Amino acid sequence: MLKVVKFGGSSLADAGQFKKVSNIIKADPNRRYVVPSAPGKRNKEDTKVTDLLILAYSHKNEADFEDIFKEIRGRYQAIIDELGMDYSLDEEFAKIHENIKNGIGFDYVVSRGEYLNGLLLANYIGFDFIDAADVIRIDESGAYDDKQTDPLLEKALSEHEYAVIPGFYGLRNDGSNEIQTFSRGGSDVSGSIVAKCSNANLYENWTDVSGFLVADPRIIHKPQAIQTITYAELRELSYMGAGVLHENAIFPVRSVGIPINIKNTNRPQDPGTMIVESTVHRPDHVITGIAGKKGFATVSIEKDMMNSEIGFGRKVLQVFEDYGLSFEHMPSGIDTMTIIVNTKDFVKHEQDVISGIHRAVHPDRIDLESDLALIAVVGRGMKANRGTAAKLFTALAKEKINVKMIDQGSSELNIIVGVRNIYFEDAIKAIYNAFIVEED
Ligand code: ASP
Repeated sequence: MLKVVKFGGSSLADAGQFKKVSNIIKADPNRRYVVPSAPGKRNKEDTKVTDLLILAYSHKNEADFEDIFKEIRGRYQAIIDELGMDYSLDEEFAKIHENIKNGIGFDYVVSRGEYLNGLLLANYIGFDFIDAADVIRIDESGAYDDKQTDPLLEKALSEHEYAVIPGFYGLRNDGSNEIQTFSRGGSDVSGSIVAKCSNANLYENWTDVSGFLVADPRIIHKPQAIQTITYAELRELSYMGAGVLHENAIFPVRSVGIPINIKNTNRPQDPGTMIVESTVHRPDHVITGIAGKKGFATVSIEKDMMNSEIGFGRKVLQVFEDYGLSFEHMPSGIDTMTIIVNTKDFVKHEQDVISGIHRAVHPDRIDLESDLALIAVVGRGMKANRGTAAKLFTALAKEKINVKMIDQGSSELNIIVGVRNIYFEDAIKAIYNAFIVEED
């Protein structure tokens, strides 16, 4: 049995959190590889070390640089002092200071949060330290290069029984010897890669919530936690805005079938959420989760006899493609077709798109509306159940919420409904009540 454990920034924000993390690691000798983030926020008003590093980089030639640098140093020193460690990062800080002053790149600077935290944690728990720059390779766009990484990392891990490997960064894969990071929150990706390359049985991702919740707690008071979710369900929910895990974190482990367990550092006794490829665990409810987003626009196109015009859809979509716009959904009727897009991206090209569609397909009418919210009701349990749609729309109708769009994919994994922005919260409450509260 081998577990890879990743700890997020809030799990390592101060000395007290370091103690909890150490206890968690020591409680199970199978927890052999540890991937830390940089120290995060200690409270709501606090600033993450990564953000301080970004600030330091952009202020490197300004008067307040030394103060910002001191603040970063202070974060680590406080942890060392409060833990009573006989350890110093002074030399590391002197090197980083010099490198910044010599104009070293942005990625190097922001990655130091994880690097230093990795050194500190390794020393505190008595594990070896493996610098991510020696074992992780990332391309310029921030994507993990598995061909270069895997042999390096597999070899390094086989040489260390217990090790800390900092998250978030690696070396650029072009031989330039420069540090390259993943996008923000990328330590989740590092942890997933380490799990894959160590052939782990489980990837534990420790954070400050007890797993994924069925719905957004800002809308639903104390929503239930999701016990087991499949990768596919998670993709649907994450796409619609349910946070917790970096969206690229599932790919490395998914490719080799390793489950992820989201756990809470502050409540290790909670089971958290298991993310799995497939499961015979019956979900507690027909639906696994609800997520949604506001801010979509609809472009409705009408033309008599549209249906018999071959290539109509392609020509319309070509116009969107020409302006670099991706579309979310495309419900259609016989002589109508609606394209749903993200309003923010769309407004920049609104009039170009309209004239482009006119030129491309000569429609009778184009109509724009901009206040659509999309809600995804996701659940592997829907496949085996009848009446899910009936229940969903009854719940919305009871609340007098008008449904503007419906989309159910053939996978029967989700139903997407579009409602006006003002009904967004009420719609989610109605769905939660119907499927979760009333089923219990
Ligand atoms: N520290 C980095 C961030 O704040 C990466 C991470 O925490 O995963 O984005």
